[in-house]
Amino acid sequence: MNMFLGIDIGGTYTKAGLLDRDGNILAFAETDTPKTGGVQAEIASISEILDFFEEPLENVKAIGVGIPGPVDYKGVVFSPPNLNHWGKVDLGRLLSEFFHFPAQNIIVGNDANFAGLAEYKFGNGAQQDPMIMITLGTGVGGAIIIDGEIFHGRNGFAGELGHIVLQPDGPRCGCGRRGCAESFLSHQGIVRIAWEILQKDKGSILWEMIGGEFELLTPKTIQEASNMGDPASCKILDKVSRFLGIFLADLINIFNPQRIVIGGGISKWGKPLIEPAEKVAKKQAMKHIAENVNIVRAKFYQKAGVIGAASAAMSVVDY
Ligand SMILES: [Zn+2]
Repeated sequence: MNMFLGIDIGGTYTKAGLLDRDGNILAFAETDTPKTGGVQAEIASISEILDFFEEPLENVKAIGVGIPGPVDYKGVVFSPPNLNHWGKVDLGRLLSEFFHFPAQNIIVGNDANFAGLAEYKFGNGAQQDPMIMITLGTGVGGAIIIDGEIFHGRNGFAGELGHIVLQPDGPRCGCGRRGCAESFLSHQGIVRIAWEILQKDKGSILWEMIGGEFELLTPKTIQEASNMGDPASCKILDKVSRFLGIFLADLINIFNPQRIVIGGGISKWGKPLIEPAEKVAKKQAMKHIAENVNIVRAKFYQKAGVIGAASAAMSVVDY
C-alpha cells in the first residue's frame, strides 16, 4: 500500500501521521518532544510512535519530517531555537540508518514550508499558483509555492516572510532588526500592542479578564473581549489587522500571487481580523496586482505539520 509518513517535530510535541496519497490521515499519534538527550532522544520517541502504529515501514513509500527552524536543501538541520540541544545534524541520514529506510525517500524541511505545501495540495490553497502562506503563531512563518513546489532559494532557506520590515523604528525582533512583521503579528507582538493600548484605557473589560496580569493577556482573551464590543480590544484588533494588511500588500506586490493563505493560531480570529486586513492590502498594493489575489484562512491547524510533512514525502517519490 502507498502510505506516507509525516512527522512534525515541534518545540513541545512530536506528532506523526500515516497518510494515503489523497491526504487522508489513516493513523495519528503524538508525544512530548524530549528536552534533553539531543537528536538521539528524538529518534527514540519517533520509534515509539511507529511501534504504536503497528504498521511495518515496508508499507511506507516515503517519510517527511518538519522542523521548527532552518534546514538546508540537503536536509541538514541547523540548531533549531526550540531544540538547541540538537546542534547541527543530518537528520535524514540518521533516520535512514536507524530505521533502515532508503535515504532518498526521506525529506527533511522547515515546518512553515511544509504547512504551505499541505494547504496547496489538500487545503484552502486549492492548487492556486503561485500561492503564499503565512503562519501567525509563536513566530511568523512563511512559504512560497511556485508551480506546485516550495521555492527554496539558493541554500534552502527562502521564505522567511515574517522578517519583512513594516516599521523601521518598530520594536526589536528576534532576528535583530526592528519592526519586522513578526514583531507585530506573532503572539508576543500582538500582546505587546495590546498592553500599550490597555495602558490608556483602565476601564477596559480586558483588565478584569486578565486580573491585571500581563502574563494572562493572550490573543484569545483579546478576541473574546472584542467580540463583547470592548472598545480597547476593538482598537487592538484594528491595529493588528492594519499591520497584517500592510504585510499582505507587500506580499502581493512582490509575488503577484493567485492566493494567500493565512494560518497559525492567530488566524482563528477569522473574519474580524482578515476582512479589514484584506481591505488595507487591496488599497495599498498596486491596483493591477491586487485585483486578482484572494486571501483565505488555512484549513489545517493541529495537524498541519503532519499533513505538510507527508505532502512533502509524496513529492520525493513517483507514484
Ligand atoms: Zn525579524
